[in-house]
Amino acid sequence: MRLKDKVILITGSGSGIGKSTALLFASEGAKLVINDLSEPNGTATVQEIEAAGGEAIFIRADVTNPDEVSAMVDAIIAKYGVIDVLFNNAGISGVGVLHEIDPEAWDRVINVNIRGVFLPSKYVIPHMMERRSGSIINMSSCIAEVGLARRASYAATKGAVLALTKSMQVDYAPYHIRVNALLPGTIMTPFVENYLKNSYDNQEEAIAGLKKRQLSEELGLPEDVAKAALFLASDESTFVMGSPLYVDGGVVFG
Ligand code: NAD
Repeated sequence: MRLKDKVILITGSGSGIGKSTALLFASEGAKLVINDLSEPNGTATVQEIEAAGGEAIFIRADVTNPDEVSAMVDAIIAKYGVIDVLFNNAGISGVGVLHEIDPEAWDRVINVNIRGVFLPSKYVIPHMMERRSGSIINMSSCIAEVGLARRASYAATKGAVLALTKSMQVDYAPYHIRVNALLPGTIMTPFVENYLKNSYDNQEEAIAGLKKRQLSEELGLPEDVAKAALFLASDESTFVMGSPLYVDGGVVFG
């Protein structure tokens, strides 16, 4: 068991990559805190973990709301006393060329994808500092490093998360807290399915286009990212600090 008895909070784990990671972490012995905006989805993740013999609780909180995030962290500390790993995974998509983006839509993406990393980190880190131990995984994207069409606001947020990760690592290294970033490519989740549906008439052509910009012949699966997150969460990565870990089938080289 690579995460035996570790208490792990994954934001946005009612769906997609977060859910898949929660299931994998629970099978490796972790106690999961499932967070999401959607109560039915979060509860379904908990039920799947319990059905497989694992341990999990659900806490509904909006990662952009300081009161809700702080109450969530307090509740975890009251129940378990510690948070060993924080996976800042919750995120939303933003589509469009810059001059067509509605300012409110811009703010929404910036808010969830950047403030949604800032707030859980802000409230969890003091507990990690006290114990002089912890691993934080921030969800960036390969788009932080490659230009992709019609994703200006989203790209801006994921670049910011990568920069934030490096800065956090420098500040918290003295407390033995590791902070790393995941940079996935195209991973087939509801997030990508919705993006394709809203952006393209011909889905098959769109998928073929996505495959063409990477080296792998297949698009990624949530499990591919979950396995990389497992490495960063576990003690196997103790010498990995402030790193971008690409899980993108070679998009940055394609
Ligand atoms: P998803 O839509 O399947 O899951 C995201 C979850 O986050 C949803 O359950 C949603 O309810 C939750 N969420 C959204 N806003 C929230 C908020 N304010 N508070 C709490 N929860 C909230 O998407 P996914 O594909 O699994 O994406 C997960 C993360 O991975 C995102 O940060 C995304 O940007 C990133 N990512 C995804 C891909 C991909 O191709 N799927 C690629 C690179 C990065």
